Amino acid sequence: MGFKANSGIDLHIHSTASDGTFSPSQILALALEKGLGAISITDHDTVDGNRQALCHGIPTGLNFLTGVEISACPPPILKGLSSIHILGYGIDIENYTLKQTLTDLQKSRKNRNPKIISRLNSLGIDISLKTIKMEAGDCQLGRPHIAKALVKRGIVKSMDEAFDKLLGKGKPAYVEKFRISYKQAIRLILDAGGLPVLAHPILLGLKDQNHFEQFLVSLLQFGLKGIEVYYPEHSPECMSFYAKLAKQYNLLMTGGTDFHGSIKPEIQMGSGAGNFFVPYELFEKIVAACN
Ligand code: AMP
Ligand code: FE
Ligand code: FE
Ligand code: ZN
Repeated sequence: MGFKANSGIDLHIHSTASDGTFSPSQILALALEKGLGAISITDHDTVDGNRQALCHGIPTGLNFLTGVEISACPPPILKGLSSIHILGYGIDIENYTLKQTLTDLQKSRKNRNPKIISRLNSLGIDISLKTIKMEAGDCQLGRPHIAKALVKRGIVKSMDEAFDKLLGKGKPAYVEKFRISYKQAIRLILDAGGLPVLAHPILLGLKDQNHFEQFLVSLLQFGLKGIEVYYPEHSPECMSFYAKLAKQYNLLMTGGTDFHGSIKPEIQMGSGAGNFFVPYELFEKIVAACN
């Protein structure tokens, strides 16, 4: 694998199997075109995109790591947050319990959509699930698609505003959905032979470094194996802090852009908003830990 030493990797990518706009085969082609050394498709609560990528065939010269991003119920220290995202790498995508649980989670997202729409309707917003589905195409419909539709209709100016004013936790059109706990998510990934990793720690909103460290330590006892150190929204200081903790607690470091295609157009695969880069050596260490 040494010949890949200079190439970057992207271990956080969403496909059309969740709320990304690129199909798994388009993702493989784009990764190859960009000269990435390795990628992982980490869809929200589904491994269907992984299955499609593997069936399509992984191009020579590109390494592929199976992945998933589970939206789990956070611990009490994160009150105010609707979910904590746990990435799972190197999972057996045919693991029975994993498949069953992910199906339940997808159902709960699906069942929530009409409830969100009726809340929006009762707020006087004229929008229907049918048209949103048509606009979104064949994907796992969720709040990002509803947010996009609200922007398109001029009801809000941006996706962020849609979440901040209407769809986010505690906002008028927010609807709870069934989630497994963060402990169960970690266990599920371990039992499917994978490595559980804390996704985009900055988004947890734990500003105090001691609080963050305490929180991270609390996840270790349940089997957390890594932390997403490289993420487009992490400042250099932030990355050094997470890298320091990774070293201190013997955690793997991972990284990726959270590429979603045109639903998050400012983020490009592999390079984020411009000069983002995740070194290939991280991938080698993750693969070694999977075996
Ligand atoms: P859902 O899976 O339906 O609960 O929607 C949550 C997803 O919406 C997250 O995983 C993100 O992909 C996306 N999301 C959350 N907040 C925002 C935001 N402020 N702007 C754009 N997308 C967001
Ligand atoms: Fe997403
Ligand atoms: Fe996430
Ligand atoms: Zn993601």
